[in-house]
Amino acid sequence: MRQISPVGIQLRRVLEQWRSILTVSTGMTLLTSAFGYIGGLQGVELSFYDAFMRLRPSADRDERIVLVTVNEADLERLQHWPISDFDLARAIEAIAAQKPSAIGLNIYRNLPVQPGHALWRTVAHSTDNLIGVYKLGIPRVEAPEALAEVDRAAFSDLPIDFDRRQRRAMLSLRANEMRPRAQLDLPDDIQLSFAMQLSLLHLERDGLLPDLSAASAASPTIAWGEATFRPLLSYGGGYASGRIPGYQILLDYRGVAPETFSSISLARVLEGDVPADLFRDRVVILGTTAVSLDARWHTPFSYSTLDNLDATPSLYVHANIVSQILSAVLDGRNFLQAAKPTQKFLWLWSWTIVFHSLCVAIACASDKPHAKAQSLTSQLAFGAVVLSGLTIATSYGAFLMHLWLPTFSPIASGMMASLAVLVRQRNSFARLATTDDLTQLANRRYFDEFIERSWKDRRMRQEISLLLCDVDFFKRYNDTYGHQAGDVCLSSVARAMSNAVRSNDLVARYGGEEFAIVMPGCPLEVAERVAERMCQAVRDLSLDHQASDAAPHVTISCGIASTSLGVFERPEELIEEADRALYLAKKEGRNCYRVLVSLDIEVTSSPSPTTDLPAASETDDDPQPA
Ligand code: GH3
Ligand code: MG
Ligand code: MG
Repeated sequence: MRQISPVGIQLRRVLEQWRSILTVSTGMTLLTSAFGYIGGLQGVELSFYDAFMRLRPSADRDERIVLVTVNEADLERLQHWPISDFDLARAIEAIAAQKPSAIGLNIYRNLPVQPGHALWRTVAHSTDNLIGVYKLGIPRVEAPEALAEVDRAAFSDLPIDFDRRQRRAMLSLRANEMRPRAQLDLPDDIQLSFAMQLSLLHLERDGLLPDLSAASAASPTIAWGEATFRPLLSYGGGYASGRIPGYQILLDYRGVAPETFSSISLARVLEGDVPADLFRDRVVILGTTAVSLDARWHTPFSYSTLDNLDATPSLYVHANIVSQILSAVLDGRNFLQAAKPTQKFLWLWSWTIVFHSLCVAIACASDKPHAKAQSLTSQLAFGAVVLSGLTIATSYGAFLMHLWLPTFSPIASGMMASLAVLVRQRNSFARLATTDDLTQLANRRYFDEFIERSWKDRRMRQEISLLLCDVDFFKRYNDTYGHQAGDVCLSSVARAMSNAVRSNDLVARYGGEEFAIVMPGCPLEVAERVAERMCQAVRDLSLDHQASDAAPHVTISCGIASTSLGVFERPEELIEEADRALYLAKKEGRNCYRVLVSLDIEVTSSPSPTTDLPAASETDDDPQPA
């Protein structure tokens, strides 16, 4: 025989609570992830990304890069645009004279601009570290012919996000149109980007060429100097994009302010007004910054994409990519990595569990009698706001450590989990009004409602039967084992009883140690079988009760009443009848059930009071109703 400990019950409750927390949190995480994968949260995630990028302390100026710019003042001084081939050739010659490591011409020059085309062709051919650009996207813009002839042109396209901002750099792309630089030994069909070509020229002087041996289709990781390049994968970070063409990385902007890089105007270069050694050993990029020339792109630093004033000259964006590559290869600066889908899921899941368990804790605390009068909703809202702040702060911390994790998704998932707590709490308040706290059975109020309702519906159903069951010698149980053990015993008895009925029957706590079972549509014979099942279920619990005269373990006695037996005007009459039958069961030794056929005649019954014997079959030995 055994005793159920209060600690066991407590432990079971805690385990059940955790199971529910894990189930709800996992469900919410899956839901949010699915919504994220179809792009539902991408916009918000990218906004957080931009905010983090702008908020981040700016890096020092990169002295390895010099920009030669064409701004509005230059256009005034030049008096015409596009610049003639003659002026362009002169400018390139002036730059090349200082021996820069690479010269990038970020101006589309697919057509000759006379005068000076012949000179331009000569300079383009002879300046062997000059790279021109072409545009792959539609409409396509060809490379300067003179540079294409010597295989010194690269694509200047950048992947563009759905909100027209540029957050990624595409370092290479497979295609069949252009041959790569010979010394890289790349497969024939790979084209390199403008920034990549410039970086290669700068780095190859020191013999720093990328080690492509590890690059394969499955894990295209590339070691290059101090850096390890890993491409952006599908659904990385806050992206909901499954297709990432080419070799892309997140563009880790050093900055888009003019002071991020040294610069000099094209007009000054043409006038020969260039400080000594300004270009020496540096990557020089020539391009336009004039708003009127419209060579501008939107970046995380553009607050609005509605006009071009807030946009960044494409020249600066290329300079940022070159700077990112050089800083990684030469200084070992970490790349900004987008979290992988598995990392994202775990991140989301962990936060959802934190949100959910905190809200469950708040809900539990607000249940306690000494809890503050503040409403649960406002407490949950406060908890959710604090956790959201914490999520944003942690994401930002990870961003500073070069990992881009989704920021809004865990908040959304956590909020939904919190909402689930609120809804459940509301439901549980409604349930509390009709539930007995100790046994979790229906309370007396619900029993009254239920029997009344069943009584009214009775015409459609045939019968209604009622059992009243009472724990035998329960006062002695309390006296022997203590009141707390008595409570545990009552809840075990209640559970055993509710497991022994059909789902549409109602087991209620009728009072102290008394239980009522209402069975709509149930004739007497079935009610008797149920009563026997109840008695047996309680016996089977084998709960010690040394002070009982009925058996050495806890037992119950039941009284049965059924509309099968007579005419009852009101439900109260049925209850009275069941009570009288219960009284009879008590009188006849307990640990049994009894039935009365009318208010006056007592009949039938159940296994006679036994000590510890299994119950007899309910039909064989029972006297028949009179
Ligand atoms: P009988 O076999 O005739 O039913 O004897 P009994 O001792 O069970 O009956 P009695 O009515 O004399 O005593 C009922 C006891 O049940 C008294 C009361 O303290 C105890 N009781 C009622 N409600 C609770 C409860 O919620 N928890 C505990 N521990 N005891 C309770
Ligand atoms: Mg009793
Ligand atoms: Mg009683």
